[in-house]
Amino acid sequence: ALLITDKCINCDMCEPECPNGAIYYGPEIYEIDPALCTECVGHYDKPTCISVCPIDCIIDHPEHRETEEQLWEKFVLLHPPQ
Ligand code: SF4
Ligand code: SF4
Repeated sequence: ALLITDKCINCDMCEPECPNGAIYYGPEIYEIDPALCTECVGHYDKPTCISVCPIDCIIDHPEHRETEEQLWEKFVLLHPPQ
């Protein structure tokens, strides 16, 4: 999962772009729910929140490192086949 650092300027660019609804407005800045963030695996080649963030304040979450395989498993859980 990814992490929004406290450099976030609350510009609101990333929240509507997340395909998993993982980004929400927290007490002070936008935050990412690690349980919902697949690092955009299954949707995009690169994390789309990083692509739209004007100040590059989104980083790998140091406490939620996941392999590509784990991210795919999360994607399948979040988006079960119809
Ligand atoms: Fe959402 Fe993708 Fe950013 Fe994770 S990396 S918060 S899934 S836009
Ligand atoms: Fe914060 Fe970047 Fe999201 Fe804007 S795009 S709300 S600066 S994390």
